[in-house]
Amino acid sequence: MTRSETLFEQAKHSIPGGVNSPVRAFRSVGGTPRFIARAQGAYMWDADGNRLIDYVGSWGPMVAGHAHPEVVAAVQAAAVDGLSYGAPTELEITMAERICAIMPSIEMVRMTSSGTEATMSAIRLARGFTGRNFLVKFEGGYHGHGDSLLVKAGSGALTFGQPSSPGVPAELAQYTLTLDYNNSTQVREVFAARGHEIACIIVEPVSGNMNCIPPVEGFLETLRDVCDQSGAVLIFDEVMTGFRVALGGAQQVYGVKPDITTLGKIIGGGMPVGAFGGRRDIMEHLSPLGAVYQAGTLSGNPIAMTAGLKMLEIISRDDFYAELTSKTTYLLEGLQQAADAASVPFITQQVGGMFGLFFTTESRIDTYAQVTQCNIQQFNRFFHGMLDRGVYLAPSAYEAGFVSNAHTQADLDETIAIAKDVFASL
Ligand code: PLP
Repeated sequence: MTRSETLFEQAKHSIPGGVNSPVRAFRSVGGTPRFIARAQGAYMWDADGNRLIDYVGSWGPMVAGHAHPEVVAAVQAAAVDGLSYGAPTELEITMAERICAIMPSIEMVRMTSSGTEATMSAIRLARGFTGRNFLVKFEGGYHGHGDSLLVKAGSGALTFGQPSSPGVPAELAQYTLTLDYNNSTQVREVFAARGHEIACIIVEPVSGNMNCIPPVEGFLETLRDVCDQSGAVLIFDEVMTGFRVALGGAQQVYGVKPDITTLGKIIGGGMPVGAFGGRRDIMEHLSPLGAVYQAGTLSGNPIAMTAGLKMLEIISRDDFYAELTSKTTYLLEGLQQAADAASVPFITQQVGGMFGLFFTTESRIDTYAQVTQCNIQQFNRFFHGMLDRGVYLAPSAYEAGFVSNAHTQADLDETIAIAKDVFASL
C-alpha cells in the first residue's frame, strides 16, 4: 500500500469521505487521492515522495507558484505581530484600495474568509437592496455551497428550482431560477416574464466549474442589458477568474461592468479569503451603514491580508499576464499536437491562465449540455495516466486547469512529452 492509500483509509474514520472538500476524494476519476506533503513552485510532493507537476494550484490561488518566497517571507514577518485582532487594521484599507484600483467597477469592498461567504453575502445584499427574492444562476456554474446556490433547474426555465442537496429547503430553492449558460434568448425570455421579481443574476463570466467555457459573444452584454432594464443586480462571480484570466478579471477581458463582483482564491495568496464589492450605492446597504447584515470573526485577517497584498504586488508586475497566457497557450498547443498525433478526438479552451481539456469531436464547447457529451471515461484514463507519470491535473472532467508563472519551459515540455505517451496509450 502506498502512504497515500494508508492515509486515505485512516482519514475515512474521522473525516467524512476522508476529505474536507468532496472533489478531493477522486470520486469522479476513481482511485485514491494523493495526500500532499509539501509544495514549491510548480510542484507538489505527495506523501510517498513523488514529485507532481501541478496544474490545479490549490484550485486557482497559486498563480505565482507554491510557497512563493516573497509571500512566505511576508507571512512569516506578519505572524510575529499577532494572528488575528478582530479589530480594524491599516492593512485592510490598503487591500480595499488595491482591489478598487485593479477593478474599477468596485467602489467599495468587504472581505470575507471564503468565496462561499462572498457569494452568499452578495446575494443577500442584492436581495436587500432590491427588495426582491428571485435570483438567476446558470447550470454548470458553481458559486460555493450557500443554500440558495445549491439548486438545480425545475422542468423548465420558469419553473421553481429544486434543491440539489438535502438540507436546502424547497421553499428557499423556489427562488432560484437556473438557466442555460450562454443562452441569451432564454435570459431575455425569463426577464420578460419575471424581471420585476428578480433580485440578481450571478454568473461566472468565464465558466470554470464545468471545465473552461468562455462566454459567447453578446452573452455577458445581454446579462448587463436585462439587469439595466429590470433593476436586477448583476453579480460577476470572479472567485476563479479574478486575477487569473487577466489582472482585472473577466470584466477587463470582456469589457462588461458588473454591479457587484465576488472574489477569492488568488486574492488571499493561499490563505482563506473572499471578498465582495461593487457599486457604492449598493454596498452602502451593508451593516453597519445599512440594514443588510453581514459579518465575520476572521474577515480581513492580518495574515491573509498580508499574503494577499504580496500576491497582488507580484501579479501587478510587468508582463505577468502576458507570460502566464503564453505559457498556457504553449502547453495547450503541445497537448493538442500530442492528441492529434495519437488520433484522439480532443480540444482545448483557454482564457489567460485558465484552461479546459475536452475529449470531444466538437470544434468548440459553449454549453453545459456539450460538456456532458464529452468522453468522460477517456478523460479519466488520461487523468490517471498523467498522474502515474507525475502530472497533477484536476481530478474531474468538469473542472478547469490552471498554469502558474512558476511553470518553466522545461516543466511544460515535460508535461507535453508525458501527454504524448498517455494519449498514445488511450
Ligand atoms: N465561486 C466560484 C466561481 C468558485 O470556483 C468557488 C470555488 O471553487 C467558489 C465560488 C467558492 O469559493 P470557496 O471554495 O472559497 O468557498
